[in-house]
Amino acid sequence: MPAKFRHLVLILLIALVALVWIEVAQGDEAECQECVTINFLDVGQGDATLIELGGDQQLLIDGGPDESVLYELGRIMPLYDRTIEYVMLSHPHSDHLVGLEKVLEQYNVGQVITADIETNESNNQYWQSELSRLTITQKLARTGQEMNLSNGVSLKIFWPKAVPAGNVADNQLNNLSIICELVVGDEGVVFLGDAMANVQDEICSLLPDDIENVTIKAAHHGGDGTVSDCLINRTQPEEVVISVGANNSYGHPVQSTLDYFDNKNISVIRTDTVGTYSKVLK
Ligand SMILES: [Zn+2]
Repeated sequence: MPAKFRHLVLILLIALVALVWIEVAQGDEAECQECVTINFLDVGQGDATLIELGGDQQLLIDGGPDESVLYELGRIMPLYDRTIEYVMLSHPHSDHLVGLEKVLEQYNVGQVITADIETNESNNQYWQSELSRLTITQKLARTGQEMNLSNGVSLKIFWPKAVPAGNVADNQLNNLSIICELVVGDEGVVFLGDAMANVQDEICSLLPDDIENVTIKAAHHGGDGTVSDCLINRTQPEEVVISVGANNSYGHPVQSTLDYFDNKNISVIRTDTVGTYSKVLK
């Protein structure tokens, strides 16, 4: 075969392989278009979870302490998708809030789910003013609400029942965190914000006890006094995810929290050891 034809055959073969590869890649993507994937993002000492609801819709719960959330979003979100349909702020502490301010700069946000707490903290004031400047719809989260997001995913809100009027002291913010469960068929993920065990005890009977596969995003980075025996016994989680920074100055997670889950044979996943942890629900 003349050299010219050998080259032509080679080029055609390469083109064929490339076409097959693209088809396979697209096939995978199409299969996952309706998947619901929970990504517990590695944002250091803070919380940020990106939930891919299917059909290019997302819910982002908290944004972590800085712009590292943007790197994680860039890695996971499709390049062409610059809109996050739902953003939730569990409570206005900077390790949950500051990343969300960066998200507002880089993405269109459909609506914000918030406990709507007033504090003197400068980050919170900036956040509130940005939300009004950008005229983003805010949905107030209160005990007993249920939101149907999309693709059969529902979001049940258990806490807070109410928030005090006027400025709320910094040390009260953790216990005003939004506590919610994302339910997809017989699977659920419980988000506890930074709410302490006493608040979890108060609402534990409201949580469904008939969901087969439950994952819990641990409260307050696995700190002291953050595990409610009542809530764990009711939901029977298979897995607990602790969002925490390596060698953080708070000593999170504390040994008693780790021992508790160990004694219950519940596996613990930590973002400081595994990085971003992704779990496909359906
Ligand atoms: Zn926190």
